[in-house]
Amino acid sequence: MKTIPAMHKVLADERVTAYEARLGRDVVKRAADEVLGRARASGNGAYEAIVAALAARLESLRRDMLQRVVNATGIIIHTNLGRAPLADEALAAVAELSRGYSNLEYDLEGGERGSRYERVTAILNDVTGAEHSLVVNNCAAAVLLVLDSFAKGREVVVARSQLVEIGGGFRIPEVLERSGATLVEVGTTNRVYLEDFERALSPRTALLLTTHPSNYRIDGFTHNASARDLAELGARAGVPVVEDLGSGALVDLAPYGAPHERTVQEALSDGIGLVTFSGDKLLGGPQAGIVVGRSQLVARLRNNPLLRALRVDKMTLAALGATLQIYRSGALAERLPIFRMIAATLDELRARAQEYLGAIADAKIVESDAYVGGGALAQERSASVAVALPARDSRSVAARLRANAPPIVARIAEGHVLLDLRTVAPEEDAVVIDACRNCLT
Ligand SMILES: *Cc1c(COP(=O)(O)O)cnc(C)c1O
Repeated sequence: MKTIPAMHKVLADERVTAYEARLGRDVVKRAADEVLGRARASGNGAYEAIVAALAARLESLRRDMLQRVVNATGIIIHTNLGRAPLADEALAAVAELSRGYSNLEYDLEGGERGSRYERVTAILNDVTGAEHSLVVNNCAAAVLLVLDSFAKGREVVVARSQLVEIGGGFRIPEVLERSGATLVEVGTTNRVYLEDFERALSPRTALLLTTHPSNYRIDGFTHNASARDLAELGARAGVPVVEDLGSGALVDLAPYGAPHERTVQEALSDGIGLVTFSGDKLLGGPQAGIVVGRSQLVARLRNNPLLRALRVDKMTLAALGATLQIYRSGALAERLPIFRMIAATLDELRARAQEYLGAIADAKIVESDAYVGGGALAQERSASVAVALPARDSRSVAARLRANAPPIVARIAEGHVLLDLRTVAPEEDAVVIDACRNCLT
């Protein structure tokens, strides 16, 4: 007992006091209690070992918070790393509208209750050309709301090749089942024709659903019914056609250097009745699920009581509104982070990589494959530039980079630690270079 240091002495050690401001005295004391208790039980009361164990415990508590990380993976829309970084304008709007009160559901002209969705709907309709729109928590919620509003107790026709799992356990057949709809599969794994959909129509058909296969591809002997043909069939049969687009590109990506991805506007102009997509994928905004389409159909969604449970908060609406404003301005490559990353030229990336080489002995510049990611373009590579670190044990160097403050998430390829500069913001270069130097010595 005598050999165990006193609590007050441990708490006064500067390696421990440093955590008080961040975690609070109670948390630090509880952690000290635990560590001292263990020391007592094991009979090992060495002061240095106890303080080191406590500091490690406190550091891990500190790290349990969400924290900013540097994405050096080259995957632009990285779901595990928070998807799209927000534009400065979006962040400013969140701060401005959340610091105090806002007219979230208030009509300033009439001095009475207003609609939460009105303003964002106006700008969404403007940017996409849709008749009407709605925003919910995420795209999965948007799909759920659509199915619940139209298809409960009825049938939804889907091509077998599109019965996909999108990641995070979002499986089209299961979402359908949960919403009380009956799935009617048509076609085979690789081929489906318009006639397959036509034959599946019955008085119980509520919707024709088409989904973006997102993260997988079928090559070879394939056939799909076109969205336009499906829309025509739906119109003839009086059955709404829904397209779950997922990524939600609002502009053609080709001029920015990425492969073309079907846009929301293309889906609408094909005659699709309701289009669902995410706010934090190719749109480059906050997490949100957006539905655009025919007024009459969107009105059904608005009247669904489930909407109340899926509704978005003011921070989302603020960030989404500000992000959509950037689309109106047309200055995407300048103002939206994901477009800045997509549009960065190889020369720009190489020039930055050169600075890493100047600061990190034996680092090399290598060609790399970056990915837009986030479902739709999950497998579409785009040429990029990476810095390869001179690491003998790449796993341990990558682990040390992750333990940096801020943590840096690198990629390991063929035994090398690679930092793909396409997803590292130029403002982050100095921090990353510093961290590399520390981790390599
Ligand atoms: C990503 C994706 C979803 C899910 O979107 P969340 O916003 O993550 O809920 C749904 N459908 C498709 C086709 C997707 O790509």
